[in-house]
Amino acid sequence: MTFTAPRGTNDVLPAEQPYWRWIRTTAEDMAAAYGYQPIDTPLFEDVGVFERGIGAGTDIVEKEMFLLQPRREEARRFALRPEATAGLCRAYIEHGMANLPQPVRLYWYGPNFRYERPQAGRLRQFTQINLEAIGSADPALDAEVIVFAWRLYEGLGLQNLTLLLNTIGDPAARAPYLEALRAYFRPYLDELDEDDRVRFHKNPLRLLDSKNERTRALLAHAPDLHEALPPAALAHFERVQAYLQVAGIPYTIDKHLVRGLDYYTHTVFEIVPPGAGAQGTLGGGGRYDGLIELLGGKPTPAVGFATGVERIILNLKANGITPPPLPGPEVFVAVTAEGTTEAAFALADELRRAGVRAQLAVGGHSLKSQLRLAGRLGVRYTVILGEDELRGGTVTVRDMGRGEQQPLPREQAVAELARWLQQAGRT
Ligand code: AMP
Repeated sequence: MTFTAPRGTNDVLPAEQPYWRWIRTTAEDMAAAYGYQPIDTPLFEDVGVFERGIGAGTDIVEKEMFLLQPRREEARRFALRPEATAGLCRAYIEHGMANLPQPVRLYWYGPNFRYERPQAGRLRQFTQINLEAIGSADPALDAEVIVFAWRLYEGLGLQNLTLLLNTIGDPAARAPYLEALRAYFRPYLDELDEDDRVRFHKNPLRLLDSKNERTRALLAHAPDLHEALPPAALAHFERVQAYLQVAGIPYTIDKHLVRGLDYYTHTVFEIVPPGAGAQGTLGGGGRYDGLIELLGGKPTPAVGFATGVERIILNLKANGITPPPLPGPEVFVAVTAEGTTEAAFALADELRRAGVRAQLAVGGHSLKSQLRLAGRLGVRYTVILGEDELRGGTVTVRDMGRGEQQPLPREQAVAELARWLQQAGRT
């Protein structure tokens, strides 16, 4: 009997790790530069955090949550987190972050879980980078998270992306519009597909981003959400655009852009690569002024963004962009005789304590095959510790680039190698 990883999950093997490290450190460095502090939250939360926060009627909560089997009847019900924002807001309330200077700017990285139909770019365990600015309604923050997203992709070398931007106002302004939208679609209910009929009843705003052709055709003459928004909401949207303009970031207003989660207000955005299908969105986000209150806090404006690491990697690969390699060993310590294994082990240990990345030969292979391995590892030097060297209190150092060898006194070997590597400019 053998096992395989669960459907929709990936093992990230060593060969893939340079992508992951590169994306993560790029985002982390940027977060620090923008004044966003790192935060982590648990992998699972009270189901209520998501039911209340994301919305009980959303696909994520209704169909896609991984519920944990409670051990006892009366136990609290938990779910693996399907996204980060609701848990982050729970943490903001629980730790009294409203008492800190506002806004609180937070950076978050980690896996999320959704029971979806796996396909390219759509996984059941996927990793997100999130940025959240909680506690201010300033439109500069909406623009700040958008600029962060844009600069992140830019920094990784992704080009020709499209920033789609919209405003959906707040629930009070939306309510009469949703009624108007229903009134418009009601005569055509029979012509809508099953999904869109459900949307009509449960969440008519989602009709705006329907993928169904008939619905899309009908939308051409549907009431315009922007015309229903109050001047303050439109002014907020104007400010966001003004900031994007001074940052030199191009955008396309898409009046049909609404996001899958219930909690969004005002600004919503998505960043899509060229020719992307439905699974192609690199990242997106927006303002969620009502969420903290929904979770039991005081009314608190907030804005944020999430991007999927796996999606970024797909796009990097599609564009032939390779990450910088991870640091490998600089020195290989070869072992040429049974009697020198301990001396070699001690030498490797000493090298590492001196800050030199050293890999020790194991397994008693021939010197030739050890040198071949050292070549494959890309080390700068191989140190050979044979019986002659041990007796003479020396080591033999082979410069792998030049193919030249020279002896060094054992006591000086570590310091010398460290110095040479320093001079050579470490890679
Ligand atoms: P969302 O939280 O649905 O707004 O998604 C934000 C971003 O997370 C998307 O643009 C994707 O990059 C990524 N993402 C969301 N769901 C998945 C998934 N099932 N598999 C892989 N990436 C995902």
